[in-house]
Amino acid sequence: MHEASICQSIIETSVNIGTERKLIRIDKIYLMIGNIHHIVDEVLVNYFDIQKNQYPLMAGAELIIENKPLIIKCSMCGEQNELTEPIFICPSCYNRNIEVVQGNELHIIKMEGEVNNEQ
Ligand SMILES: [Zn+2]
Repeated sequence: MHEASICQSIIETSVNIGTERKLIRIDKIYLMIGNIHHIVDEVLVNYFDIQKNQYPLMAGAELIIENKPLIIKCSMCGEQNELTEPIFICPSCYNRNIEVVQGNELHIIKMEGEVNNEQ
């Protein structure tokens, strides 16, 4: 279960961004996760809902996850295929020399919140 540590780093990054941008409250965090990371969304959200309470800025925040399919390109036959399991073999010619085209993503796309207008 690596969701807990990933969750912690998402929260810390969000708090840093929120503080930098003078937010008084973070409402939503949009996250893009490539399927190479094998993250279970529900588990990540569960950790998020517990860990966010360490930070008043985050206490009401909601995590919105967008998954990116894992797509590989074969260096032998040139075909692109989506993998549902991280078994890095070309499904067309069984070559192991492949390149990940998409599915490596793990980052915050955007955040919504309330800015402190009183300063
Ligand atoms: Zn191939």
